[in-house]
Amino acid sequence: MPDWRNPPRLFIPGPVFVREDVLKQLARPPLGHRAKEYSQLHQETVELLKKVLFTQQHVFLCTSSGSAIWEAAIRNCVGPAETVLATCCGAFSDKWADVVRLCGRNVDVLKVEWGQPITPELLDARLATGKYAAVTLVYSETSTGLANPVYQIAEMMKAKYPEVLVFVDAVSAMVGMPIHFDQLGWDVAFASVQKCFGIPPGFTVAVVSNRALEKSKTIPGRGYYLNFELWAEAAQKNQTLVTPSIPHIYALRYQAERLVNEGMENVWRRHQQMADYVRSWAKERFALFCDERYASNTLTTIKNTRGINVAQVIAAIQAKHNTVFGNGYKKLKDITFRIAHMGDITLEDVRQLTQWIDQEIG
Ligand SMILES: *Cc1c(COP(=O)(O)O)cnc(C)c1O
Repeated sequence: MPDWRNPPRLFIPGPVFVREDVLKQLARPPLGHRAKEYSQLHQETVELLKKVLFTQQHVFLCTSSGSAIWEAAIRNCVGPAETVLATCCGAFSDKWADVVRLCGRNVDVLKVEWGQPITPELLDARLATGKYAAVTLVYSETSTGLANPVYQIAEMMKAKYPEVLVFVDAVSAMVGMPIHFDQLGWDVAFASVQKCFGIPPGFTVAVVSNRALEKSKTIPGRGYYLNFELWAEAAQKNQTLVTPSIPHIYALRYQAERLVNEGMENVWRRHQQMADYVRSWAKERFALFCDERYASNTLTTIKNTRGINVAQVIAAIQAKHNTVFGNGYKKLKDITFRIAHMGDITLEDVRQLTQWIDQEIG
């Protein structure tokens, strides 16, 4: 019987497996969050994250899950008379469009079939109307396993629509795939730590451009908890607006240092190698759900072409090996399954998992 006291090894696309040494960081005693020693921890963490994300702009440490920044980007940076173009290519990007509506802002949708990418050409055609103040994009769509061509989109946007703000959900991409935040010309990007950072859930890293912060100061009704201007004031003192989850910050500092020491090129290559392996395994036995040219390097969504009973296979592997992988997301539940290969999951780990799946499906 599954039991929380005996937690399975996680290959679901978040939360993912966390190393013992990272778990130990979360057990350190708290600091006073207005004390000098906290500011030291905060500053070191932010400086390391700036290296991970190739930015000189604002890195905010936010005690919330990632979804908070869907809302924060909209409430801080979009005026009540402005319209957002939400690009939709799967469950998470669809949800962000809903969040724009729930924040009471105007939204138009650019939708492609699930498994297809948002291309620079499609986006260009919509932005040519001159109607939009901002665009929302999901880097790695965790439902379909697709990574949008964000570097090509950025080149197009910088050349033709430099005034349009770009908000990027990088939740399942950040760390596992390249993000040169300043070079990309993005305005807001974020990731919760339970994906490629390999930390337990409950905390988020958010990057905000200087111009997005300046614009936010002109927007009415931004609220308190997710207010970028107030975050920036606190960050000047190497603090956060409210009491942060200091255990998460210990773990984040630790992980960011490991990443910087490994070198981001090496980190991205490691994710690419795991992705290549899982994709070739999947293609021999099943098929990829998304257009392979756009497959994400942090997780693979596999089309269940053999009609296996996914829930049964997951349950069997949990019973035998105390390990679980992901079923399909929402409407893809039975027609796909998902394997995460991000964070501190290793190539050896995914090889072992796929062997176990092979044993179950025969
Ligand atoms: C996991 C995920 C989210 C949700 O993040 P939370 O931390 O659960 O709020 C949003 N977007 C994408 C692409 C994700 O993978």
